[in-house]
Amino acid sequence: MQRNDRPSHHRRAGSNRGRVVAAVCDSAMKVKKVNRYWCDFCGKAGLSSGHMKSHEKHCTMNPNRECRVCKMIKDARNAYFVPVPLSRLVAMLPNHEEFKRCHDDTTMSYYDGGLSEAVAKVLPSLKAAAGDCPACVMAALRQAHIPVPMAEGFSFKDEMASIWADINQAQMAREYGGYR
Ligand SMILES: [Zn+2]
Ligand SMILES: [Zn+2]
Repeated sequence: MQRNDRPSHHRRAGSNRGRVVAAVCDSAMKVKKVNRYWCDFCGKAGLSSGHMKSHEKHCTMNPNRECRVCKMIKDARNAYFVPVPLSRLVAMLPNHEEFKRCHDDTTMSYYDGGLSEAVAKVLPSLKAAAGDCPACVMAALRQAHIPVPMAEGFSFKDEMASIWADINQAQMAREYGGYR
């Protein structure tokens, strides 16, 4: 009957890497124990420690994440591409706190539209610094606490599609000797 709820943030960031045991009841009131694993960076939960470890390694909230998309770009677009440290990309973005507004008499906050404008201003140089890696741009936005939809002119989905197109083209060129 009892089910341990999500651990507190403090606990998740602790040394046990967010592993807790949750008891789940079925209709016959038998208790089944399952392990739950939480990502230390974004709080995403899962039932497999292997999947969660791999997620954490690449999680966009992890300041030392390993970027798989950068590797794809290196293979398909530019073998000399050297990824920029994420902290440098985060530092290019505006301070979200400056655009935070509160509804009167509540603790509910929202962002001023000025944040979108400030992001739009730095987006081209941010993209260039990130070597046009959409995963690095997204990670920088999230780590700067800027909601991704506020970054007008940035579509993770469209930019990934363009990388996949380049990968397919590079592969075709390898297989068929290019387009000469
Ligand atoms: Zn995560
Ligand atoms: Zn990247």
